[in-house]
Amino acid sequence: ALKAGIVGLPNVGKSTLFNAITQAGAESANYPFCTIDPNVGVVEVPDERLQKLADIVNPNRIVPTAFEFIDIAGIVKGASKGEGLGNKFLAHIREVDAIVHVVRCFQDENITHVSGKVDPISDIETINLELILADLESVEKRIDRSRKNMKGGDKKYAAEVECLERIKEALYNDLPARSVEVSDEEAVLIRDLHLLTMKKMLYAANVSEAEVANADDNPYVQKVREFAAKEGAEVVPISAKVEAEIAELDGEDKEMFLQELGLTESGLNRLIRAAYKLLGLYTYFTAGVQEVRAWTIRKGLKAPQAAGVIHTDFERGFIRAEVVSYEDLVAAGSMNAAKDKGQLRLEGKEYVVNDGDVMHFRFNV
Ligand code: GDP
Repeated sequence: ALKAGIVGLPNVGKSTLFNAITQAGAESANYPFCTIDPNVGVVEVPDERLQKLADIVNPNRIVPTAFEFIDIAGIVKGASKGEGLGNKFLAHIREVDAIVHVVRCFQDENITHVSGKVDPISDIETINLELILADLESVEKRIDRSRKNMKGGDKKYAAEVECLERIKEALYNDLPARSVEVSDEEAVLIRDLHLLTMKKMLYAANVSEAEVANADDNPYVQKVREFAAKEGAEVVPISAKVEAEIAELDGEDKEMFLQELGLTESGLNRLIRAAYKLLGLYTYFTAGVQEVRAWTIRKGLKAPQAAGVIHTDFERGFIRAEVVSYEDLVAAGSMNAAKDKGQLRLEGKEYVVNDGDVMHFRFNV
């Protein structure tokens, strides 16, 4: 499953949010491939299309796709220098696909702020600086090494150094590596560095319970939005406290609670959707009598690789896929009706999977 790491300064509400995520957590039996670790919360990705498909197929069960959140506590000022176990935590960030940066936008006299006052932009800059410093160290080390290797005459190293110099320049100017344009070839050369500031980031602006329905009226949230807009990053206002309460409720109680707060859905759902968008993720479905199930892929995957998400055997032995789009299937009302209309296609190895494709794979074992 794809992973987002939760970072933020102490006392901004990370643990509260993370605990809500674990509480709301997925039925782990359905996701044997997900990590079992107290710092990992597996959540189901809500998708209304699953129920519609189930209405057509009448399966024994419905299985949403899953997404993992990892609690990466412990980033403080000086983390990149290895203070307060900081370096260990930075190493965890290397493994995630995206970073959710929780910033404090709530006022509460009783809860100490590490730098003395609520100032989300300064918080963002503090964390970003640690990430930048850690990257700068990796980039400089690598430049030194590649310069030595260049003497062997391999052009690869020259290209690598050229690209890393551009990134170094950006980092020196307090800009993240993702602000630097790199070609596909360059991206391959530097991929194994796992630069922290190359990862996509979204900001979760933690507001108080009272403000959650109109979070954009909160001046701190406005500031975070302005800041994020410059970076091209996404902002999700959320109330960690509210999420903690929502996580304890289900069904009608949950609906009622959300209504009382003036919300249409939980912040966690909005966070998941934002992460999906940020990472350019698609969902495809399998729909049989046993189960109707959603699977996550990156945009642009071809049918065999998409099949590989279910099982490596599906990818290795891939022959063909029967594909119908979700819209066509729902409009037709049944698999047979879609087939009669010629909407059930046979696709080969080069087929690029679309969001909402309902797929049936044929493969050799
Ligand atoms: P972490 O250090 O970032 O993991 O922060 P915690 O989740 O432990 O939260 C620190 C304190 O802030 C706890 O006492 C939380 O109950 C409190 N807190 C978290 N979110 C909110 C909020 O939206 N409003 C208020 N008033 N307190 C909150």
